[in-house]
Amino acid sequence: MTEMPQITLSDGSKMPTYGQGTWHMGESRGSRADEVASLRLGIDLGITLIDTAEMYGSGVAEEICAEATQGRRDELFIVSKVLPYNGSQRGAIDACEKSLKRLKTDRIDLYLLHWRGSHPFEETLAAFERLQRDGKIRHHGVSNFDRADMEEWVKTAGGASVASNQVLYNLARRGPEWELIPWCRERNVSIMAYSPIEQGRMLGHAGLAEVAKRRGATPAQVALAWLLRQPGMVVIPKATDQNHLRENLGALDLKLGDDDLADLDRAFPPPKHRTRLGML
Ligand code: NAP
Repeated sequence: MTEMPQITLSDGSKMPTYGQGTWHMGESRGSRADEVASLRLGIDLGITLIDTAEMYGSGVAEEICAEATQGRRDELFIVSKVLPYNGSQRGAIDACEKSLKRLKTDRIDLYLLHWRGSHPFEETLAAFERLQRDGKIRHHGVSNFDRADMEEWVKTAGGASVASNQVLYNLARRGPEWELIPWCRERNVSIMAYSPIEQGRMLGHAGLAEVAKRRGATPAQVALAWLLRQPGMVVIPKATDQNHLRENLGALDLKLGDDDLADLDRAFPPPKHRTRLGML
């Protein structure tokens, strides 16, 4: 079993830096058995973080997580998300209760606002604080928040304890390096890099292939190792194909050298100015 690196959150508790994504799970009945099996294999291989959301498969992804994690809840760090339409005080509490039922658990380790909607932050945060006091969520945070959203969130009552911001970040999407990631790092807010291999689209890139060849690794492993070397960074690749799952885990054993990093900077240049945060 692979030893999973962890980061320390502001309250001293630990969060694994490698997890399994679940977007698109639960969308087709025919894939359910494979989805459960891949999540189970991931847990057997030592991946203790699972990222899901009430949105995925309209709730069915959370049910698949429940099936895959039966009897193993205490080993796991479960992340789920509330849709912005449910971001009112009452709405977020109701949505969380429903997620808990589907996940067949009494607590979510990290509960995120999926993206910014029209409900005032005060309302969502009042719900998050209530859920935390009741032991239904251990930590809370946000997703798809750019720096200005973060500034506003932390100024709102309860917002300063934001544990994480889950954003689109990978070698081909380096915009967040300009100011969002440094801002989060300074405040010990972890970054969860979603679509860390750009949903597979970046894997044919010649610059990535060159580094992978030199290191005897695969492009996906290089892309994930590049993220994992950054402090406070969590990756959540999704892989229903068990060969993908095993391959991706190999990233944990890959240490990129200065020459690799320089070549990756040439192939995927860092930002030279502010850009708007992307979203998938
Ligand atoms: P991703 O993890 O970058 O890529 C997943 C896709 O790549 C799947 O089609 C998978 O296929 C394939 N894949 C995985 N490993 C591969 C490999 N080694 N070689 C070739 N193909 C490979 O994209 P993602 O699912 O968009 O992002 C990861 C997770 O982040 C999501 O599942 C979700 O939990 C979260 N997310 C959050 C947000 C948000 O708004 N907060 C948005 C997007 C994603 P198979 O499944 O067939 O193996």
